[in-house]
Amino acid sequence: MNRPRQEERHRGAKGAREPKIARTKLGRGLVAARAYLPWEIVGEVQGEVFYDENYSSRYCMDLGDGACLEPAAPFRFMNHSCLPNCSLRWSDVAAANGRTARRMFVLVIRPIQSGDQLTIDYGWPAHMAQLCRCGAPQCRGWIVSGDSLDEVLDQLPLDQLPLDQLPLDQLAADPLPR
Ligand SMILES: [Zn+2]
Repeated sequence: MNRPRQEERHRGAKGAREPKIARTKLGRGLVAARAYLPWEIVGEVQGEVFYDENYSSRYCMDLGDGACLEPAAPFRFMNHSCLPNCSLRWSDVAAANGRTARRMFVLVIRPIQSGDQLTIDYGWPAHMAQLCRCGAPQCRGWIVSGDSLDEVLDQLPLDQLPLDQLPLDQLAADPLPR
């Protein structure tokens, strides 16, 4: 008779350590309320699934086969990082009716401490690119997939290039060929 009560207590304690939506320097974000190790599942992303190939939004998560998931809170508030600590993975999970249901999960890919912001790589296509301020040492400068970065830079007028990130002092130190 004790067991159900213990399980309930356990669930309650776990619920209290779910990630929290919090203010960050980049607006609202999702912050870990406990430590995680790589390959742990933070949780399942709930939301609305769209099967329209033309559907697009800032937060839309690719579910494969032309479907995308418009995520609900709290995972809707995960910010982008060029060095993320989480990754999105979908999986076809057995459902009660004998079929499978495609579900989206947030997987930990780097150790996370309590209080760290949970981040993913948005991997946006070039036409959605925005300047990135994630602060990662290997920041691409743009919120865009690694594959699309060249496309974004090629379209940039030169006066908009992030010149402070170029090694200008090195360039200046190189003597011009005579
Ligand atoms: Zn970045």
